[in-house]
Amino acid sequence: MLVMNNITKVFRTETVETHALKQFSLTVNEGDFVAVTGPSGSGKTTFLNIAGLLESFDDGEYTLDGRSVKHLNDKQLSQLRNEKIGFIFQSFNLIPDLNLFDNVDVPLRYRKLSKAERKERIEHSLDVVGLANRMRHLPSQLSGGQQQRVAIARALAGNPLFLLADEPTGNLDSKMADSVMSLLEDINQTGTTIVMVTHDLSQAERAHRHIQVLDGQVTEQQLSKPELATVNA
Ligand code: ATP
Repeated sequence: MLVMNNITKVFRTETVETHALKQFSLTVNEGDFVAVTGPSGSGKTTFLNIAGLLESFDDGEYTLDGRSVKHLNDKQLSQLRNEKIGFIFQSFNLIPDLNLFDNVDVPLRYRKLSKAERKERIEHSLDVVGLANRMRHLPSQLSGGQQQRVAIARALAGNPLFLLADEPTGNLDSKMADSVMSLLEDINQTGTTIVMVTHDLSQAERAHRHIQVLDGQVTEQQLSKPELATVNA
């Protein structure tokens, strides 16, 4: 479970204070698929980065899988992130010089896994995204949709509890976007909880739950698939 209560985040420069999140509260249960929409600058990415322990917050409580993160040091935060979180970004963030196998291996290198275990995980996750036969290709030899699939494989290889996706289809045409969405739905059905920021309302409707963010706060929650959503927010 991911529980945020009254989270406040202020970005400060010498001259400006931006209140990116204002008493932001949200609970995401295991197995859920939550879509987050809202206008540009409303705080969606800030929320996702705090959820993924990439960004600190100023006030409020955040509990990830039963653990309050507030007083954890950097090492503990990065360990918790490695154990529980997978990230997917709009721009894929693949390393151009590495083939698919080695790209998926990047986060695994920081784990205490044998070479054989790493190989098994990489092959399995590339198989899940339908790219097992392209392991020795470079990212540039793939379509955008396929590159995003590699990024998803890389996130999955860590067996995350939560997959956090920031505009995962933002750089894709509608056909590729649809196929990446279908893949995310399949992954969710195998038990991975997904939180996805999107500008695309038709995609948001495919999630179990649709959260709207405005001016740093959750303003509305809709159940797109009440039979699937595990809500207690
Ligand atoms: P978009 O849909 O355009 O990606 P968003 O809803 O994801 O927007 P955020 O990126 O979370 O919005 O930004 C929320 C607010 O915080 C914005 O006003 C933004 O300018 C500000 N902000 C975000 N990151 C920083 C930063 N590192 N330093 C200063 N201000 C920031």
